[in-house]
Amino acid sequence: ATTNASLIARREAAVARGVASAAPIFARYAENALLWDVEGNRFVDFAGGIAVLNTGHRHPKVIAAAKAQEDHYTHTSFQVVPYEPYIALAEKLNALAPGDHTKKSLLVTTGAEAVENAVKIARAATGRPGVIAFTGGYHGRTLLTLGMTGKISPYKKDVGPFPSDIFRAPFPSVRDGITVQDALTGLQNLFLTDAQPERIAAIIIEPVLGEGGYTPVPFEMMQALRDICDTHGIMLIADEIQAGFGRTGTWFAIEHSGVVPDLITVAKSMAGGYPIAGVIGRAEVMDSVIPGGLGGTYGGNPVACAAALAAIEAIEEEGLLARSTALGETFRARFAEIGARVAPYRMWDIRGLGAMLAVEFVTDFETAKPDPDLTKAVVAHALQRGLILLACGMHGNALRIMVPLTASDAIIDEGLTIFEEALAAAVA
Ligand code: PMP
Repeated sequence: ATTNASLIARREAAVARGVASAAPIFARYAENALLWDVEGNRFVDFAGGIAVLNTGHRHPKVIAAAKAQEDHYTHTSFQVVPYEPYIALAEKLNALAPGDHTKKSLLVTTGAEAVENAVKIARAATGRPGVIAFTGGYHGRTLLTLGMTGKISPYKKDVGPFPSDIFRAPFPSVRDGITVQDALTGLQNLFLTDAQPERIAAIIIEPVLGEGGYTPVPFEMMQALRDICDTHGIMLIADEIQAGFGRTGTWFAIEHSGVVPDLITVAKSMAGGYPIAGVIGRAEVMDSVIPGGLGGTYGGNPVACAAALAAIEAIEEEGLLARSTALGETFRARFAEIGARVAPYRMWDIRGLGAMLAVEFVTDFETAKPDPDLTKAVVAHALQRGLILLACGMHGNALRIMVPLTASDAIIDEGLTIFEEALAAAVA
């Protein structure tokens, strides 16, 4: 029989080591918030394939829509023979995105590709080259997006140089003592020292920092960025790839701040497990690139479009936005209670928006020194007991919750109970 150990050996011989995995198990079957490995072990999945599965593994509606599409055609390339599902998804995205201006959308395949295209569009719209991104931001692993990603290890180590005209501003951080005012002063100083504002096409920000630690952008900061962009004619890009499609209790995380961005990048939970991504933006901004200037062979694959339309419908029909808000409250309360009882003074922060939530582990409360070792131990103990967890954060000491919003209360409770046992084992 196939075992995890035998697959690890084959993988080590055949797969580049640069693509690492959080869990030393191999998937055989998955359904909603549960996954079984090749040895038949059952796991509660709090990682959701990195925030892709807000509607769960193999949502019946998503699978049915994809299968139905497969019976018609699976690929024509929208640039050769276009098809309706692409248009229907663009219409849906334009309707869902914040702001009452006219919008248009572009569909691509991966999140990084969406970010690359948002920058291209912002450059064409403004005639300017520069991009400003933030400390700890994550925008992808292609060379432009990696240049924008604000963390060296493991992403940027040994693979530079990165494209020019990318500048970094500070992200407000309680841990680092950086207030919103400090962050905005840092941005104004950047305008004085390195990044001439008339040469900046876009400021890109994740409304809730994803890989960087599930830290929401304070709403007054988002509002200030909007004002700064308006003052200097800069495009504000909200990278909603991880935070979008209900993770935070709204379709897009930026809605919580009331700010309307010029461009939005989307991917992940938009399609419940199928690879598709997009850029949504002001119609006139989107149309600043000439015909033929955007695209890609697979962009907006019809099976993925059908899956996305079904996933969005499932979020609507099953009330998953409200479910996200409710789950966020459940997790906050349980984490606070478990932390205080099982690991006093080791859980420094519980933060996020809606069900986009993380807990941060420290060695002690006094110094709040990040404790990535404790975090790794919790992940390992949880996996042994049947719970898949994923860490994040600049210091690798945050555990993030990306559980399907479709998970039942019983499964959420099961996962939290395992989390408690794993934490107890890790601090013992
Ligand atoms: N932006 C954000 C905010 C992300 O979280 C990610 C993926 N973690 C990306 C961009 C890149 O997406 P992809 O991995 O699909 O290229």
